[in-house]
Amino acid sequence: MALEQHHSNQTSKNAVSTLYGHIHSLESFGTVDGPGIRLVIFMQGCLWRCKYCQNPDTWDLHGGKQQTVQDIMRIVLEYQAYFKFSGGGVTVSGGEPLLQAEFLKELFKECFRYGIHTCLDTNGYAAHLTEPIHELIRYTDLVLLDIKQMENQRHLQLTKMSNKPTLAFAEYLAERGKPVWVRYVIVEGYTTDLESAHALGRFLSPMKNVEKVELLPYHALGEYKWAALGEHYELTGVKPPASETVIEIADVLESYHLEVSQPSNDTFSKQTKTSGFLK
Ligand code: SF4
Repeated sequence: MALEQHHSNQTSKNAVSTLYGHIHSLESFGTVDGPGIRLVIFMQGCLWRCKYCQNPDTWDLHGGKQQTVQDIMRIVLEYQAYFKFSGGGVTVSGGEPLLQAEFLKELFKECFRYGIHTCLDTNGYAAHLTEPIHELIRYTDLVLLDIKQMENQRHLQLTKMSNKPTLAFAEYLAERGKPVWVRYVIVEGYTTDLESAHALGRFLSPMKNVEKVELLPYHALGEYKWAALGEHYELTGVKPPASETVIEIADVLESYHLEVSQPSNDTFSKQTKTSGFLK
């Protein structure tokens, strides 16, 4: 579903200025969504309903604030010095950024013009690999790809959506040789079993573009948002996985010659977006 709008009285020549993105919020000085110091842009809209979603306030496809590429670039350029010394850049997250590929391809094209590193944090759900998605990936330096569960029925239980588009997207990125960090959330009852880790290892091991797998232990820190939205949070009472479980899963993945990182325990919690614009 495209969220983009064009102003009808504008010409295609200045299409960049006529595109609007639906933006949930921005976060400066992010350090967990890609390398270095990052400006993280949280896009509005997601079709999935992951049971552990920490940002259900991004789901509404028509919420957020409408901003142009220029609006965002004005903010991005203020952080250029920080990007430069830290090896950072811009990350788009969500919600699901691929839903606004048309807008983001223009944003990333602008970042490219200024030599700013770009990172796409996505669940990989592209119903069709459209031209805007091809272009967006062309201007993306790194993809952070969430793979929630390899087995489709369990994926459906966890997210209410099929994993087939995500796995196809992973293969597409591999064919293009696009650098990828895979993210795998470890949540009791859904992804703590070792067979799931073996399935992930088998799938990723031939992909030379996968630079690492980040293991993110589940936290319930987004639960209060579900309550605020009147949504029922099904994982109430589910504890974060034991550190031994995380280590066992890491061992399984490493046995497939994958590099595994276990970011600090609060990494997943830092993915909880706070509302608000920088300006
Ligand atoms: S965790 Fe991500 S993919 Fe899942 S519902 Fe939330 S925003 Fe969508």
